[in-house]
Amino acid sequence: MRRKIVAGNWKMNMTPSQAVALAKELIPLVESENVDVVFCVPAIDIVPVVEAVKGTKIAVGAENMYFEDKGAFTGEISAPMLVDAGVKYVILGHSERREYFKEDDVLLNKKVKKAFEAGLTPILCCGETLEQRELGVTLDFIRLQLKSDLAGVTAKQAASMVIAYEPIWAIGTGKTATSDQAEEVCGAIRKLICELYDEATAEAIRIQYGGSVNGGNAAELFAKPDIDGGLVGGASLKADFGKIVNY
Ligand code: PEP
Repeated sequence: MRRKIVAGNWKMNMTPSQAVALAKELIPLVESENVDVVFCVPAIDIVPVVEAVKGTKIAVGAENMYFEDKGAFTGEISAPMLVDAGVKYVILGHSERREYFKEDDVLLNKKVKKAFEAGLTPILCCGETLEQRELGVTLDFIRLQLKSDLAGVTAKQAASMVIAYEPIWAIGTGKTATSDQAEEVCGAIRKLICELYDEATAEAIRIQYGGSVNGGNAAELFAKPDIDGGLVGGASLKADFGKIVNY
């Protein structure tokens, strides 16, 4: 049985003092014996939020990282820096990074491999645009993304990671994919993992759905056999996040 995992993606929200206040507000609401909970926070909030969640089961994640360990890469943050700060997870390939910061699959493959090397668990995002869905190429596009991003990743590494299926048209729009649409793609991703690796890896890997998840739709989405939790944007910044975790 895979454990569900619900991760909040705070995006570029919350100053350090606001972040600590939000973490403290959410901690009692997201206590769960059955669900892994992650706060993925802006880089500057990592240290205070790690401190704020000390003594709880909540893990802290980063929203991005670079693939080099150190050096002349002004403005970037490395995997060893994140590990030293107490980070356990890192979101990679979010559609906002792919779109606004032109991150491509060659770069993401380097980041994914570096995350594993450093001992971080990647939450690797994939997902189609509305145009791609309407053209009927959703699964082809996601196969291409994941095959490229996972090149050189071992079965053992893949089994430990998280993939987030996030249809771009559902992110921050209030338009959630139906649970059947989400399950269709999450199931196809699991089949792809089986094809790239083996049955055991496909059974172990956790696949989240992300895109306007909230306290009202989480239960139906998470009841689907191939949906192992959610990556949550807007609703992770409020008490609703507690309802999602305790769906
Ligand atoms: C996200 O940013 O990953 C996301 C799914 O956002 P929202 O929940 O706001 O759609």
